[in-house]
Amino acid sequence: MLLNPLTFHTPDSLEELLKLHSSLENAKIQAGGTFLLNSLKLLKRKGSKTPEHIISLYKVPELKGISADAKGLTIGAGTTIDEIAETPLEGHFQILHTVCKNISTQPIRNVATMGGNLTCRYTWTEMPAVLIGLRGTMIFVDENGTAEEVCPEEFFKNAAKTQKILKAVHIPADAEASVAYRRIRKSQGVDIPLLSLLINTRIKNNQWTDTVVAVNNCTAFAQRDSKLEEFLNGSKNEASIADEALNNLTESIYDTRSNEYKQHIFRVSLKSAIKEIVTTHKG
Ligand SMILES: Cc1cc2nc3c(=O)[nH]c(=O)nc-3n(C[C@H](O)[C@H](O)[C@H](O)COP(=O)(O)OP(=O)(O)OC[C@H]3O[C@@H](n4cnc5c(N)ncnc54)[C@H](O)[C@@H]3O)c2cc1C
Repeated sequence: MLLNPLTFHTPDSLEELLKLHSSLENAKIQAGGTFLLNSLKLLKRKGSKTPEHIISLYKVPELKGISADAKGLTIGAGTTIDEIAETPLEGHFQILHTVCKNISTQPIRNVATMGGNLTCRYTWTEMPAVLIGLRGTMIFVDENGTAEEVCPEEFFKNAAKTQKILKAVHIPADAEASVAYRRIRKSQGVDIPLLSLLINTRIKNNQWTDTVVAVNNCTAFAQRDSKLEEFLNGSKNEASIADEALNNLTESIYDTRSNEYKQHIFRVSLKSAIKEIVTTHKG
């Protein structure tokens, strides 16, 4: 299907991007384009109004790349999922390899971006729970280039709405972090997740502390299970907590709009993620 006529803009600096973004009416951002192009076709098919301008992020150098320093890891919003999967990472940041290598298929990973995954407003993409779980922040820039650091939990509580450009995400260094990630595929044919979750804790004096349980049930935006976090904090690092944890869930996160299989596989995933942390820490 041919798209409706539009003007395709390819700014090659953040300044130019921000200028276009604040001045053009009826414009859409294109990062990797994997969702945008589908949505343009869908709008045309429905007979709805389609954007007159597409602003590509592809040539904007300030949005690209991964850098690490003592404070943590900064990933440009325009960095592809494949680039993250292929970048050598240390410590708990390596969980990003597991996350990225399990997202969709290689052709999608080659073009889909960190920023697109977080801001596309589909409830089932995987980076939101990962960023919440890793205590990360999102760095947005307004039309003047002024940066604002946003807590992802708040961003997704507000249904991922923004008029700003996401420039990068930052994930703090944490030598004490123990993390586990689980992701269940929805079907063989189209590999999108049925659910995903990341647990991040610090084990001190054999007790779990500062735990984050970030859950994506795929029908609502990623969120934290504070009841489970409360139970895990203060619990001894013993295998039995994996079973006990299942009696301490915020059930609405797991059971609302979930069928029996999904409710079951959520509990299996939570249990095995907790066990993985217990075993790795003891080991
Ligand atoms: C067949 C298929 C399977 C997939 N499977 C998975 C999966 O298993 N797991 C998973 O997590 N994801 C999956 N995805 C989603 C994919 O990983 C991408 O995250 C998603 O398609 C959007 O990324 P993009 O860079 O292509 O964004 P685009 O499609 O280019 O952008 C979508 C919208 O996001 C917004 N946007 C993008 N970047 C920015 C920015 N920097 N600042 C502000 N707004 C921005 C804009 O509103 C833009 O119009 C799948 C996608 C497809 C098509």
